[in-house]
Amino acid sequence: MSMSVLSEDFESARKEMVEDQIKHRGIHDAAVLQALLKVPRHLFVEPEFLDRAYSDFALPIKEDQTISQPYIVALMTQSAMLQADDRVLEIGTGSAYQAAVLAEIVKQVYTIEIVESLARTADSKLKEMGYNNVTVRHGDGYQGWPEKSPFDAILITAAAPKIPQLLLDQLKVGGRMVLPLGRSGSPQDLMVLTKQEDGSLKERFITGVVFVPMTGEIRQ
Ligand code: SAH
Repeated sequence: MSMSVLSEDFESARKEMVEDQIKHRGIHDAAVLQALLKVPRHLFVEPEFLDRAYSDFALPIKEDQTISQPYIVALMTQSAMLQADDRVLEIGTGSAYQAAVLAEIVKQVYTIEIVESLARTADSKLKEMGYNNVTVRHGDGYQGWPEKSPFDAILITAAAPKIPQLLLDQLKVGGRMVLPLGRSGSPQDLMVLTKQEDGSLKERFITGVVFVPMTGEIRQ
């Protein structure tokens, strides 16, 4: 089978994914749908899961981590209410799929991964794929990226036991933080926090989710 036949198969699987799993479940933001149609998720999964790259679930990646379910990536991205010239911080690069989706929509993406090998793989993969508007850093996302702050949006893609104040400090007024809040193991609350003029937060619960735990300093 030639590569072109394969990539056409992936493209139609991706269209089906967007129709059946994303649109039908209430994702309506045109830029988000466009990004999910475009990003080749099969290049972000492990080779043994290629046939499930466009199925409706999270999949294992290296280092006992996961690539999130496409619907949850779409939901978090839509919930961040992004604009084309936004600068976005992601905590938990993992496979880099969410980072690539963000990079299709906004001007600049900064993403931090605590596991060094994952950070390195993500960085070279994104470069190879031509995503020049994503910067990957290896480190603990708990500290954020103060030199690049403030951000229009911050996505945390690992379960946080509490709202990380240092990250809130790096959010613009009017900026949105999207995160799974709660203990690992049990479902967490996917929340959107919007920073108000007076520094207070407007909190909105979206749905229950299950993410791998945010590790590092937040656990101390
Ligand atoms: N956004 C990813 C999903 C990643 S799973 C994707 O699209 O594939 C969560 C990731 O968060 C894991 O790779 C894990 O190593 C990372 N992580 C956990 N705690 C972290 C922390 N404190 N700082 C940065 N990354 C963290």
